[in-house]
Amino acid sequence: MLSYNEARDLVITRVTSLALGPHTESAALLHSLGRVLAQHILADRDYPPFDRSIRDGYAVRSADAHPGATLRCIAELKAGDTPTSSVQPGTCIQIMTGAALPSGADAVIMIEHTHRDGDTVTFNRTASPGQHVVARGSEQSAGKLVLSKSTRLGFAQLASAAQVGAANLSLYRKPRVAILSTGDEVVDFAAVPGPFQIRNSNSVSLSGQVTSLGAEPITLGNARDTRDDLHAKISTGLRSDALILSGGVSAGKYDLVEPVLRELGAEFLFDAVAIRPGKPVVFAVCQGKPVFGLPGNPVSTMVTFDLFVRPAIEILSGALATPLPLFEAVLTQRLSEKTGLTHFLPALAEYGQSPRVTPLAWQGSGDVVAMSRANCLLVVPPDRENIDPGERVQVLPRGL
Ligand code: AMP
Ligand code: MG
Repeated sequence: MLSYNEARDLVITRVTSLALGPHTESAALLHSLGRVLAQHILADRDYPPFDRSIRDGYAVRSADAHPGATLRCIAELKAGDTPTSSVQPGTCIQIMTGAALPSGADAVIMIEHTHRDGDTVTFNRTASPGQHVVARGSEQSAGKLVLSKSTRLGFAQLASAAQVGAANLSLYRKPRVAILSTGDEVVDFAAVPGPFQIRNSNSVSLSGQVTSLGAEPITLGNARDTRDDLHAKISTGLRSDALILSGGVSAGKYDLVEPVLRELGAEFLFDAVAIRPGKPVVFAVCQGKPVFGLPGNPVSTMVTFDLFVRPAIEILSGALATPLPLFEAVLTQRLSEKTGLTHFLPALAEYGQSPRVTPLAWQGSGDVVAMSRANCLLVVPPDRENIDPGERVQVLPRGL
């Protein structure tokens, strides 16, 4: 059986090879958070555009500044001013943060290190050349790459685009991701379930996970466990850029997702991965579209999405698949798990100087409430039966 890393790699390779050629569209900068750039963005001019003072103080010739030196202040420069006078030997110019360094000066002395009496300024420090000045073009020179194509735009990337005046951006279109839950026992979450029915929570978690990746969820409701209903609804789902199913992939008599996908011509890349929860997870390509059959237990659905669907959606979005953001933390209590599978347990991580992680009590992969109280998954490798408190373990943090 594939390890979760092998299965992820298969997803990444196969989805990349589908070459779906994401379409592009133009969008206003302020509406581009979380979207993926379809163009390179270059610097329109040098940054900073002039030698910029980064302190309030005096612009000086560094050769003139030494403890006890007295210079005559001949002008004042605030941010936005055009420097008109230049600093001559024996003089200085008062300068504010963000203002352009006047000619003749090569350093700024902070106001805190001076004493002023009328036009006479006494300095109590030396100045090294370039001190408190950011040189023109040192952050970025005109024409150079600021943001490359396929970058996902967070607030700092948006600010970089704003700085160079990129008011409208060429973005990849959001992939449309169809979501179909399955199961005769499943009813809409707004409905009153019968005594042995359950509400559809998987379509809700999947829709949230798809949205938080910047993709567009298309919820198709629930299919009954019949070949006909599955056939019809899966066919509809295949009109989107990708299809995610929940339920119906185990070995039960009414787990019909795989046979129906086969009828529709699917090529199966895997139908089991050595993990718990989520072992029967399916990845196939059907009619040119990536299809994921996620096990229906709600925690299995969430975990397998994060491991396998997320990289596919990132690639369909025009971005690169981000590696799993695993980090190490110290385990706070003893763990015993069956060997042979990698376990992903809902847990609480405390992000201190030395991160700690505590597994949460849970009733297994149906326990949505335990998952809602967790902020991470604790990863137990397949070769470890017992892990003692104080040992370091891997943790997979979770976003929203
Ligand atoms: P399955 O993978 O179809 O065998 O389902 C496994 C378990 O997950 C069963 O207990 C189902 O009732 C439950 N389940 C399946 N689909 C959903 C859903 N959409 N929302 C919540 N629970 C579900
Ligand atoms: Mg089912």
